[in-house]
Amino acid sequence: MVKLLDLQAITMQHGEEYKAAVNRVIESGWFLQGNENKSFEANYAKYTGTDECITVANGLDALYLIMRAYKEMGIMQDGDEIIVPANTYIATILAITKNNLVPILVEPTWEHLEIDIDRIEEAITPKTKGVMIVHLYGRIAYNDKLGEICKKHNLKLMEDCAQSHGCAWKGVKTGALGDAAAHSFYPGKNLGAFGDAGAVTTSDKELACVIRALANYGSQKKYVFKYVGMNSRMSELDAAVLDVKLKYLDEDNAHRQKLAAYYYEHINNPFITLPTQIPDENNVYHQFPIFSERRDVLQAYLAENGVQTLIHYPIPPHHQECYANVEWNIPQLSLPITEKIHKLELSIPMNQVVTIEEAKSIVGVLNAFY
Ligand SMILES: *Cc1c(COP(=O)(O)O)cnc(C)c1O
Repeated sequence: MVKLLDLQAITMQHGEEYKAAVNRVIESGWFLQGNENKSFEANYAKYTGTDECITVANGLDALYLIMRAYKEMGIMQDGDEIIVPANTYIATILAITKNNLVPILVEPTWEHLEIDIDRIEEAITPKTKGVMIVHLYGRIAYNDKLGEICKKHNLKLMEDCAQSHGCAWKGVKTGALGDAAAHSFYPGKNLGAFGDAGAVTTSDKELACVIRALANYGSQKKYVFKYVGMNSRMSELDAAVLDVKLKYLDEDNAHRQKLAAYYYEHINNPFITLPTQIPDENNVYHQFPIFSERRDVLQAYLAENGVQTLIHYPIPPHHQECYANVEWNIPQLSLPITEKIHKLELSIPMNQVVTIEEAKSIVGVLNAFY
């Protein structure tokens, strides 16, 4: 059986280094807001090419805190609109609605699977305050035109980098392309911790300062509370682990790219469509999505033949029960490309421990499907 994600094998690749890092924390007796977080924050800011990295408890908090801080700064207010791709994980949308902001769902393109930048300007209204892009599946969702649109309309450009660690646009890393970016270190991400963890990167010093306070009960000075804050901090254990994993991120991503090249070269089945390859694209392949009109039959067939898969994601956000009766989610909302992706998508094994031998067997099974 080829697992979709063998976290044990991934962890054991550098098991001794992780054990040493965890031991260091245990022996220090210091578990929050210490040197490990300081070190990872400095290293990850440097890696992304930003001035500030603020570690937080998870990716959803990172997303939420960016917009919450913009509200505290008077840049956004209740009822303002944020443009966001309609095909994303629910957390991106939750972060917007939890802030009493309104998500304006924009279709992706079928070729790119990312937000259709040509449709962003028509979605802008006087209430629009920001664009939240999501680099879904490890693929860049940014281009220069988007940067220009945001400047022209004075919109904050925010990035959901939960699936794009290490991905870059013309040499600039995701996390440094806009005004602020949220990162998730959920164990299954390209850069994953041993539990929930996340971070915000930005080069806006004031924003960083507000986020840091909000994530620490709203306090900048011990026992003095400026904001109605929350507790969203990263454990020293996770920071120590992430510092180890960050060293191997580029190498891990290179392996994913090799695996993807193999899939592109060898998967050949009229019932399966591969994502359109874009020349010179920097893709870190968080997932390798394939598409089939007979997706559910294909998934069962693969399981029977020893290949574990997962659907990312079976139900699009605008069809979720939690958003059934909200004002922005009008029933006539027509998002055919989003719905098509959610109906056809299936992710096959893609990570740093899937070998070319295993890829060969996966391809054999895929190509025999009819
Ligand atoms: C994983 C993920 C998140 C949420 O991150 P958590 O750390 O699990 O809260 C947000 N957005 C996207 C696109 C994700 O894949």
